[in-house]
Amino acid sequence: MEVALDLHAHSIFAGGTQGLKISSEVQGENRKKAVSHLEKINQTMPLKGIDLIGTGDCQFSFWTDILKDVLIEDSSGIFIFQQKADVRFILQTEMIFTARIGKISKETHVIFLFPNFSSIDTFRDFLNQWEVKHQKMARPFIICESPVQVAKRIHTIMDIDPLIEAIPAHIMTPQGVFGTGKGNLRVNYLTDFFGSVTSRIKIFETGLSADPEFLSLIPELDDHVLISNSDAHSSSLHRMGREYTVLSVPKFDYPGIISALRNNRILYTAEFPPEEGRFFLTGHRAGRKRPGLHGDDEYCCFSPQFVPVNDICPICKKPLTIGVFQRCIEISQIQGAERRIGEIQPKKKFIRMVPLIEILAHVLNVKTKTAKSLITTYRQITSLMGPERNLWQSSAEEVEGKLIDHLDTPIIEAILKIKEGDFTFHPYGFDGIYGTLVIGQKGNYSKVNIIKSSQPIQKTL
Ligand SMILES: [Zn+2]
Ligand SMILES: [Zn+2]
Repeated sequence: MEVALDLHAHSIFAGGTQGLKISSEVQGENRKKAVSHLEKINQTMPLKGIDLIGTGDCQFSFWTDILKDVLIEDSSGIFIFQQKADVRFILQTEMIFTARIGKISKETHVIFLFPNFSSIDTFRDFLNQWEVKHQKMARPFIICESPVQVAKRIHTIMDIDPLIEAIPAHIMTPQGVFGTGKGNLRVNYLTDFFGSVTSRIKIFETGLSADPEFLSLIPELDDHVLISNSDAHSSSLHRMGREYTVLSVPKFDYPGIISALRNNRILYTAEFPPEEGRFFLTGHRAGRKRPGLHGDDEYCCFSPQFVPVNDICPICKKPLTIGVFQRCIEISQIQGAERRIGEIQPKKKFIRMVPLIEILAHVLNVKTKTAKSLITTYRQITSLMGPERNLWQSSAEEVEGKLIDHLDTPIIEAILKIKEGDFTFHPYGFDGIYGTLVIGQKGNYSKVNIIKSSQPIQKTL
């Protein structure tokens, strides 16, 4: 059977979300918020067409206790929140590994999937042994001395149960294995960070700023499984299911899901536009971090062929944040491939889409993506089309046929233009900032050479 999954999400306790504190006096209040988060997922995911979602932060004890309390095991290792619910949950977390390689340290995020709560309890015992501060952080750091220790610890986690899966997250971003973060360390081969556990890691997450086409530049990934997930830190419609993986599973239970993933029974992945991703191009954002030589609203960003020498901003002389596009090309060359974007045919099947809420926000000129007016229109479209997933799987003719008598023409036109690929971003995503959608124009992300700009962002349809 066909199952759409989103295996990387976060609870309301992870960083980058509402940042709730777990002091005893607010525990009751937080519990209510946590349960209503699950309720919201239960309502949201059927609209998106996602069947299975990660719980996020499953080892974070306050959250684990709530999950143990409110989730009902529906089939082996797969949970539901309420009887008769359509959405299923899988026990999932993301951990941050750091290791020193030479003199520089490298941070890498890794997703873990667990088959049951008892394996999570054992995992927590190891976190205690390793003195990981997991009681206070929903996404804690596992600080390692070296790649040898990273490997040892991931081996230890995977040895708890043969069904535990480790999946390097958003592999090209600064916090992914191939991205470059603090201190400019570049990992060019998986073994340089994962050491001897590399051979046990088969599944990789593309991340929002890359898709199977960009990743097909990298020879080392040719025989690996690529999956896509939302990495959502909230239950809002524009964040959840903004990427997902459609899998053919023998049986909808945890062993069935893991077996299908390990055997690459992926029908396709649905991809957020890489150019919109927060780390697509190399550059630096405007604002406080770059005082003095820039105006407050000035940014710089570059396609790989125009990146300044040593990745340094020519104006403020500070290091730029290296984009995913640049890293894909660098690693491709270092690994000896002669592959170029536009010339290679990716072997992995995928579709491209833009979250429907974003399209509506653009057309209706609404800034807040959670605005009621957007959600009303979104619900109207999904009542006509079925879940949002259908919008991207159906042909343009089918979509037009179903919507034409019910919606304003500009909305239908915008959806069709996105389906035809008639859109771009200005600017593209860089240095932690999402790209800004422009519908009805095409861009060229290989030709960006902005030494500085404070241009207002143009919205056109
Ligand atoms: Zn992450
Ligand atoms: Zn600068």
